[in-house]
Amino acid sequence: MIKEIQIRVNLIEERKENILLYKASKKLGLDKKEISAVKVLRKSIDARKKEIIFNYKVAVYIQETIPEESEYHFDYKEVSKAKEIHIIGFGPAGMYAALRCIELGYKPIVLERGKNVQDRRRDLKAINQEHIVNENSNYCFGEGGAGTYSDGKLYTRSLKRGDVRRIFENLVFHGATEQILIDAHPHIGTNKLPKIIQDIRETILKFGGEIHFETKVEEFIIKKNKIQAIQIQNGSEITVNSVILATGHSARDVYELLHKNKIALKAKSFAMGVRVEHPQEIIDQIQYHCPGERDELLPAAAYSLVHQANNRGVYSFCMCPGGFIVPAATANGEIVVNGMSPSRRNNKFANSGIVVELDIDKDFKKYEEFGALKGLEFQKDLEKIAFYAGGRTQTAPAQRLVDFVDGKISKDLNETSYQPGLKSAPLHSLLPKIIGSRLRKGFAAFGTKMHGYYTNEANIVGVESRTSSPVNIPRKENLEHTQIEGLFPCGEGGGYAGGIVSAAMDGERCAEAAISLMK
Ligand SMILES: Cc1cc2nc3c(=O)[nH]c(=O)nc-3n(C[C@H](O)[C@H](O)[C@H](O)COP(=O)(O)OP(=O)(O)OC[C@H]3O[C@@H](n4cnc5c(N)ncnc54)[C@H](O)[C@@H]3O)c2cc1C
Repeated sequence: MIKEIQIRVNLIEERKENILLYKASKKLGLDKKEISAVKVLRKSIDARKKEIIFNYKVAVYIQETIPEESEYHFDYKEVSKAKEIHIIGFGPAGMYAALRCIELGYKPIVLERGKNVQDRRRDLKAINQEHIVNENSNYCFGEGGAGTYSDGKLYTRSLKRGDVRRIFENLVFHGATEQILIDAHPHIGTNKLPKIIQDIRETILKFGGEIHFETKVEEFIIKKNKIQAIQIQNGSEITVNSVILATGHSARDVYELLHKNKIALKAKSFAMGVRVEHPQEIIDQIQYHCPGERDELLPAAAYSLVHQANNRGVYSFCMCPGGFIVPAATANGEIVVNGMSPSRRNNKFANSGIVVELDIDKDFKKYEEFGALKGLEFQKDLEKIAFYAGGRTQTAPAQRLVDFVDGKISKDLNETSYQPGLKSAPLHSLLPKIIGSRLRKGFAAFGTKMHGYYTNEANIVGVESRTSSPVNIPRKENLEHTQIEGLFPCGEGGGYAGGIVSAAMDGERCAEAAISLMK
């Protein structure tokens, strides 16, 4: 017999061997000998009160053995001679679309503008140390997409638990730790992601799929509203049947190409702001109610904050405990910041995007001439402002947190994890009022929710501009573009995902949709 129960364990108990077995036997009124195993299904930490509790959901196996095999199987087929599906972009959406094609017996041909994970590293070094952005190989472009040198948080708001579990199981199949199946807020870490992505690439190649790196799609050849071919950067044309367009939200040239070809696009609401960086110790002390260092059993503390300011949400986004702020620009002449963390989350800083919800119908009046690209043009302008304020390199404009709210230029800045460096700048006057004034209200309010958060020991760094796509590529119920037959807008770039897991799930769905129309 298997019984699922909840067990609460405090920090002292957590140190004891076999504590779960002991508590399970007590709770079920059983002798320990009757229990063959206790399997953890879910683990979360409740730090709301002074006594920190680990909440476990466990399956208790009573005179029964634990099955060794996962209920998920990935039955990949040999597809080298099968019907082809072209996939543009090898981020989470493109990768999972390719894997799903192979499971269903179709051959994925992936075209990716960036380099493989190993070669990509050199370009990341060049951004950080020489301030040179390779426009095809950076923190957003290359094997694994924006998901590779990311934080690897696998949190999603998607309610389709079965689909979410499939994505997690597939990551485990490709080398991720099984802990991601258990943790309430699973996280892989930027040091572990490249190897997992490389293993996914190897599966695709082993079963007969193709992946072409450094292959940028530059034109779509459309006749009678049906996609016929795509053109790559050397001018050669590739005839296609179905195309999954999974180019992410930073491929502005792709949106511009679609716009130029009068392919339907829609402007979409999104959020923008800054990244805030505190010493991790401050966040640990607030969240774990401890005066000094956090207990060694506790992970670097995270937070999630939200406040309404002038009818708009101001909220924390992509919080990275024990992490780094990274330069996520995809072109020279712009500054974009984002965050990542290693698997152990052991860096001494905690950073998070703090962003303001923008309304596409109300906030971009000056940009109306750009039609569906109005949000994108606004985003570009803000990134340019940050570039000039930072001193025209990848050095980012920054301000101490309280100085920002008080409208004072910071004489100096705190130490930072951001490798290209920071320059003191008046972000309070540089950011458009719709963002800046709300951020100032938001930060002050966050200080009342988390005592100690609102401090000049924190820096804010500009700008966190790429939270989600400012453009939607519309699709029909069958996931095909509303106007172009054979084109499947997919993932974050289409406006259908907001993170690694949701992009991966959308990739699978688009592969299924493309295949169902090919039959
Ligand atoms: C630093 C950082 C940290 C992040 N941390 C997290 C996190 O912890 N958790 C989370 O859920 N999300 C995180 N994200 C967001 C997450 O990475 C994205 O939501 C996700 O990668 C989107 O997947 P996608 O496949 O839709 O697009 P992308 O990952 O953007 O992939 C698109 C791919 O298409 C390629 N491409 C673009 N144009 C062309 C073209 N013309 N021809 C050929 N190829 C092209 C690009 O090179 C890229 O590889 C982070 C992002 C960044 C930048």
